[in-house]
Amino acid sequence: MKNKNLKILLASPRGFCAGVDRAIEIVKKSIDKYGAPVYVRHEIVHNKHVVDSLKKIGAIFVEELEEIKDKTRPVIFSAHGVPKSVPKEASNLNMTYVDATCPLVSKVHREAENLYKNGSHILLIGHKNHPEVVGTMGQLPSDCIDLIENVNDAEKYSKKNGSKLAYITQTTLSVDDTRDIINVLKNKFPEIKEPKKEDICYATTNRQSAVKKIAKKCDMFFVIGSRNSSNSVRLVEVAKKNGCDKSELIHSESKVPIDKITNCKTIGISSGASAPEILVEEFIQELKKQFILEIEEVEIIKEDITFKIPGKLN
Ligand code: SF4
Repeated sequence: MKNKNLKILLASPRGFCAGVDRAIEIVKKSIDKYGAPVYVRHEIVHNKHVVDSLKKIGAIFVEELEEIKDKTRPVIFSAHGVPKSVPKEASNLNMTYVDATCPLVSKVHREAENLYKNGSHILLIGHKNHPEVVGTMGQLPSDCIDLIENVNDAEKYSKKNGSKLAYITQTTLSVDDTRDIINVLKNKFPEIKEPKKEDICYATTNRQSAVKKIAKKCDMFFVIGSRNSSNSVRLVEVAKKNGCDKSELIHSESKVPIDKITNCKTIGISSGASAPEILVEEFIQELKKQFILEIEEVEIIKEDITFKIPGKLN
């Protein structure tokens, strides 16, 4: 029998961003246009629920083009972006491809190219092996771009030659941690060029600000999202650093931790940019079975950004 009250603070904005919406739409429209199956290189966005639902309508997920058995079928590149070698390889194989790279990631790619053309050596602030970082590094010759993962890397970095330095960043980093890294770089290299417009995207920034706003009022904080979703993992860190030590990621294999929640008066909930709202709803439904809920949505900003899908799919 339910006899315990539980207050939920729901962070807003949360969940899908414009880049994720667009990437999923691109897969659906490609299946409409070309028929099934269509191949998708890498998870279109980092969420098992999304990937499974697209598999059901005819998407086949691969990590590399060489895994594609029928090269007459189209291939879609994921929202995280790809190194330049990938569309080149697809063209060499005479494959039809559709690029679902988020326009805000493409913006970082063009920025890297322009800075490089103007004679700068590039420092990319980001996480090693994340597909977005692999894609961005793959826009330039490998000896023209170095990865900086943390403050320690920034402190240790020494210029390799006399060229000018510029930095760019992954779009889904912690806003606060990145500021610390940038401050170290600017102190060491006062002449370092910075992006014209912030690379960390609006969706990452807004979701982190929304979590910051409520974290300290919560006994526990839950972020719905995948373990390989950079922005979801960052939201857990942001909640921890901003007043809620007990913050956890709820991923596809997680159980709702009722035992822990029983000791809470207030919990916070958010979700990463690749997590569909249905997963938040299911989490709350599970809680409803055990608690008398009071739900308060705390919205810090309204988002109305949308991105067009490629014209060839219309
Ligand atoms: S998190 Fe940002 S960069 Fe990534 S897909 Fe969404 S809008 Fe684009």
